[in-house]
Amino acid sequence: MTADTADTLETPAQAGRWTAQWKELYAEVITTGLCTGCAGCVVTCPHDVIGYEHVEGKYKPFHLEDELGPENCVHGFGEGGGCTTCTRACPRFRAWEPAADMHLFGRVREPEEMSGIWRQLLLTRASDKVQHEKGQDGGFVTAMLTWLMDNDYIDAALVSGVEPDDVWKARPVLARTKEDVLATAGSRYTYCANPLALREAQEAGLNRLALVGMGCQTSSPPTMWDRKAGKVSKPFLFNIGLLCSKTFDDAIFPELFEAKYGLKKQDMVKMNIKGVFQIWMKDGSYHEIDLKECHQWTREGCKHCPDFSAEHADISTGGIGKDNDWTLTIVRTELGEEVINRMISAGVIESRPAQEDEVAMKLLRTLSIVSRRRWPEWADKAVSVGVPPPKKKAAGTAPAAH
Ligand SMILES: Cc1cc2nc3c(=O)[nH]c(=O)nc-3n(C[C@H](O)[C@H](O)[C@H](O)COP(=O)(O)OP(=O)(O)OC[C@H]3O[C@@H](n4cnc5c(N)ncnc54)[C@H](O)[C@@H]3O)c2cc1C
Ligand code: SF4
Ligand code: SF4
Repeated sequence: MTADTADTLETPAQAGRWTAQWKELYAEVITTGLCTGCAGCVVTCPHDVIGYEHVEGKYKPFHLEDELGPENCVHGFGEGGGCTTCTRACPRFRAWEPAADMHLFGRVREPEEMSGIWRQLLLTRASDKVQHEKGQDGGFVTAMLTWLMDNDYIDAALVSGVEPDDVWKARPVLARTKEDVLATAGSRYTYCANPLALREAQEAGLNRLALVGMGCQTSSPPTMWDRKAGKVSKPFLFNIGLLCSKTFDDAIFPELFEAKYGLKKQDMVKMNIKGVFQIWMKDGSYHEIDLKECHQWTREGCKHCPDFSAEHADISTGGIGKDNDWTLTIVRTELGEEVINRMISAGVIESRPAQEDEVAMKLLRTLSIVSRRRWPEWADKAVSVGVPPPKKKAAGTAPAAH
């Protein structure tokens, strides 16, 4: 891609020439607390001058060149360059929500659409026993990636695996085979910037990809498509979203789970969040930890995030509701609907209407509102449209995730 691709294009949210570059990204997103660490800007930079450390306490982009200091870019518009790619790719820069909405749905969400725009709300689970067992909830995501590979929709998927020596340290992974997909099933509740696996895909010449990620990550492709970031945005063919209220710092393992409860990371076999933090151990024991106790380990990049329901994915998935082993599945786009209908016809998943589960429906709306309330008043107003003010007696008592 050339650095000055489409600099004269307009977005619906901001008419006129798009001139914003790293300087504006740094001032308006990275240093203001809006940056989630999604790595969208990192993987799209055509000059490879944005660095990223995938370690606790970091998860933030930084400029690799010294010429103009950390806050400016020599390749950027107005500095002799002309590049604006990073701001086009950032799903927290200025009017990102209307931009992604317009691109995916041809309209912006209505004020009452707290969980974004959707076509179908389902509860699903993988028909395959192994996928179902290995999956976090119903194993739907694993079944879908497998089906997309089997049916030649994608070459590979950007997902979250774990470090070889630490089964709870998440790391971005390129899943190339169905075995890779199965091996990376389940949820880790620490941050994993899955878009970083794009580099490996590019090196391998794989360019038909699915991205699995929380809303902070899955909003990036539609934002960059709308803002015409260029050919780097093309490999993202499918976006599979994960509902998300927050991620935790890795320090929660030694500082809370082990120090207070004696639960060693290496002995944990599964965890989930359903109103409480649930932990299953190798010795067969099961433990519940109050989410309030976990709050102080909330990752910095999640504190202003307004997107619980991964509102810009083709299909978003979560575990809220009364059943543990079904995936709440929000089908949002035409493409998502085509795939899910074909999966149901092929018998690779079971499905039923999610509206049957009133608990899940209520939680979806409530948790979406709670997240939207975290978006600062000084940032783009679109995100807060329709968000009801907190009830007085409920102030400060956010409902638990899941
Ligand atoms: C950090 C996090 C927070 C979540 N919070 C909620 C919540 O509050 N409410 C809710 O209803 N659902 C939440 N979810 C979603 C839920 O845990 C399941 O991922 C979802 O229901 C899909 O289940 P499944 O069985 O279909 O997925 P699986 O078939 O198990 O597939 C899960 C996919 O997620 C990927 N993944 C795992 N961990 C991460 C990670 N840390 N970062 C990026 N990708 C990852 C895996 O690589 C895999 O591709 C959260 C998920 C994560 C990762
Ligand atoms: S939110 Fe994502 S794209 Fe935006 S600055 Fe942060 S890491 Fe980059
Ligand atoms: S709360 Fe979830 S979706 Fe929001 S920034 Fe954190 S990880 Fe991303």
